[in-house]
Amino acid sequence: MTRIRAPRGTVDVFPEIPGIWSRLEDTVRSVCRKAGYTEIRTPIFEHTELFQRGVGESTDIVEKEMYTFLDKGKRSITLRPEGTAPVVRAYLEHKMWAGPQPVKVYYIGPMFRYERPQLGRLRQHTQFGVEALGSPSPALDAEVISLLISVYQAMGLHGFVVRLNSIGCPECRNRYKESLIEILSKHVDELCADCNRRLTRNPLRVLDCKNEQCKAQAGAVPPIYEHLCEDCSLHFEGVKQCLEALDIAYELDPTIVRGLDYYTKTVFEVIHSGLGAQDALGGGGRYDGLAEELGGKPTPGVGFAAGIERAVQVLQGAADEKTGQFASGIDLFIAALGDEARLEAFRQANDLRKHGVSVDIDYLERSLKSQMKFADKLGARKVAIIGEDELKGNYVILRDMETREQTRVPSGDLVKALL
Ligand code: AMP
Repeated sequence: MTRIRAPRGTVDVFPEIPGIWSRLEDTVRSVCRKAGYTEIRTPIFEHTELFQRGVGESTDIVEKEMYTFLDKGKRSITLRPEGTAPVVRAYLEHKMWAGPQPVKVYYIGPMFRYERPQLGRLRQHTQFGVEALGSPSPALDAEVISLLISVYQAMGLHGFVVRLNSIGCPECRNRYKESLIEILSKHVDELCADCNRRLTRNPLRVLDCKNEQCKAQAGAVPPIYEHLCEDCSLHFEGVKQCLEALDIAYELDPTIVRGLDYYTKTVFEVIHSGLGAQDALGGGGRYDGLAEELGGKPTPGVGFAAGIERAVQVLQGAADEKTGQFASGIDLFIAALGDEARLEAFRQANDLRKHGVSVDIDYLERSLKSQMKFADKLGARKVAIIGEDELKGNYVILRDMETREQTRVPSGDLVKALL
């Protein structure tokens, strides 16, 4: 029979091997919690309308990339392609606006986009993100950027660049769009077919086209952040001031417009050159109009989403350079010889786990030599050896796998010897 493989654009993840993925998740949780963000888990699927209204009909995501189907009740359902619209939906649905503001949440979970798979681009990928709702303060824009940076710094990820822009409020943006159409219309022959289409539907997207000729045209237009209304301009200055107060380096980049319709004012991306063509580690911005778009009262909001696979890709490269640095390993492997010793190892392992020690044992009745080899492969820091003599004497031989030093430890003192 033919073997069934995972669908194209999906991967099986083993978060604990070599431990980067799970460490990244732990880091996200710890960084977010310290800043007062609590976890939210929204459903993997939502009503299609949420993304049509929230993300925008003219976006690539809604036009081409959604996994949409009718369920058995004939409702149009979509596997979530992003996390912000669901969080804002939950904020409105649970009347979170009635409590203390801002509401600050973070999430970690899979997103689904029907894209052409390539390095760094999957059809199911995982994002971590934060959303802060209910305050227009530029300090919050800077806070979410700083959280993303803090996660990368805590992981030892270097070489990323923060690119910052402001696309203003709908009024300054519409004014800018008009002048953009006027300027670019004179150069339609130099724009790619996609951009010719974008020019009427979503002209800002011409600015972030990867085509070289389009890039040249985009580089020649005046940056949007020089054409903001007073309110948006003040806000942008506030964000920059807060970033500078935190010593966060950034580059102004007028080509960062983000693919989603809901953004207002601040938009940013964190880029890493080690990623290749798909060089965005994460990105986000402010979306003051989104809650209203979803039927709520006007509510300011700001957040980011970042790809876990891409961060792991960069960190994995760094780990390969310093082999073993990220191997998580276990505290102890108990090597046992003989049935009675195996039962004792089984009992001891269970006991030690309750005391917070990570322990594994042999389940294949291996020889002592191959148990030691196996312990090494597991990255065990210590090995406790139990044979007939040790059983009788009620002690174990404790071997430090790094120094190769061996000591006799009374069985009852094993926890103490390990902690
Ligand atoms: P976006 O909402 O498109 O800005 O996505 C946020 C982040 O998720 C990006 O910066 C990427 O790191 C990651 N990401 C987005 N789409 C994909 C994908 N198809 N495959 C892998 N990672 C992705």
